[in-house]
Amino acid sequence: MEHLALTAKNILKGSGLAPLADGCVIVSDGKIEKITTKEAFFRESTDHCRVMDFGNCTLMPGLIECHNHVGMDARLPQHLESMEGPEAMLALTAVKTLHDDLMSGVTTARCMGDRFYLDVTCRNEIKKGTLTGPELLVAGIGMRGIHGHGYVGLGHSGTEEFRKRSRENLSKNVDFLKVFLTAGSPPLAPGWIPYYMTLEEIRTVVEEGKQLNKMTCAHCIGGKGLQLGVEAGVDVFDHIYCINEEQIELLKKHNKWVVLTSGIFLDPEREPFCPPAFVENVHKNRELVFRCVSKAVTSGLRFTIGTDAYHTFLYKEVAYACDMGAAAVDAVKGVTVNAARMCRIDDKTGTLTEGLRADIIAVRGNPLENVSCLAAIPFVMKGGRIVKDETAAGNREAAIF
Ligand SMILES: [Zn+2]
Repeated sequence: MEHLALTAKNILKGSGLAPLADGCVIVSDGKIEKITTKEAFFRESTDHCRVMDFGNCTLMPGLIECHNHVGMDARLPQHLESMEGPEAMLALTAVKTLHDDLMSGVTTARCMGDRFYLDVTCRNEIKKGTLTGPELLVAGIGMRGIHGHGYVGLGHSGTEEFRKRSRENLSKNVDFLKVFLTAGSPPLAPGWIPYYMTLEEIRTVVEEGKQLNKMTCAHCIGGKGLQLGVEAGVDVFDHIYCINEEQIELLKKHNKWVVLTSGIFLDPEREPFCPPAFVENVHKNRELVFRCVSKAVTSGLRFTIGTDAYHTFLYKEVAYACDMGAAAVDAVKGVTVNAARMCRIDDKTGTLTEGLRADIIAVRGNPLENVSCLAAIPFVMKGGRIVKDETAAGNREAAIF
């Protein structure tokens, strides 16, 4: 079995992302076999081992995108309307977005709903090796009220419809269930935040998930819908654009996770790809979202980070988390260590730890000093397989015995 030793000036090791200077990660059979220093490796190694030296780069865990949709591409105009398009079109979109995600350093993605069970099909094909992309965790059909928000979801009404769809999702072996609790965006005028599911409907989905030990995750921007979600036992709250202090405390008290996707409001470069009414809302609420999410980030609430289908731009969301008050190490944990914890896959990936899957990226610089180096990821390894290498490390190999 071939052993591969990756050496670099800096390695972010374990669940603390503790820097290891002049380190070495030994990869074998798709897994991280050992993490040591370069010096110890060259002193002790007896087996034939291919060495790739990454010079001044940092080696760190592959990124985990925490809010993705494979069939939607927020880099394109009319991407929201395109959800109503034909299945074949969405499938073609997925092939491209999955490839682009992986090349941008995303080795695992949490997918929050797609039409036609496209995410389930993609997850299965990626597992088989017939499709290129990150490992996927999928929700299948996102469930919303028939009168509610959710471009990627489908409408339901009454506990039995939600139960039926939950079971249909579970029969496809989804990794978790997804509900749309609230409006998509903050109201144009300050005030009531609409919500579209009753406590009983949310409870039904949560209970169906629990029977198979699966989490329920929610699109939720705040308001009464958030309170009902907590009461019903929802595990993860995505977006939280207009969360208030009382709701932050409620989530903390119940040890919930939130997923930040603030770029949709904070990043002006996303505006050309959104409908005019949505852009108007973005302008009106940009400061509000910044203020609310900043409070959540600095409160100690457990957070992870996703783009909501803005493929290849996860680094921007990490930078926004820092702008909103997160320490760089916590922002990076939001797309690695903590992302894996939230998704309950920290026994498989999310850290550079012996025994875990060899999902490894190299970055030029140190992301704990400046997260902007995540913008260009020159080397990506997924499950021990090199899928991208622009570092020339392969050309600097030194065979040792
Ligand atoms: Zn979404």
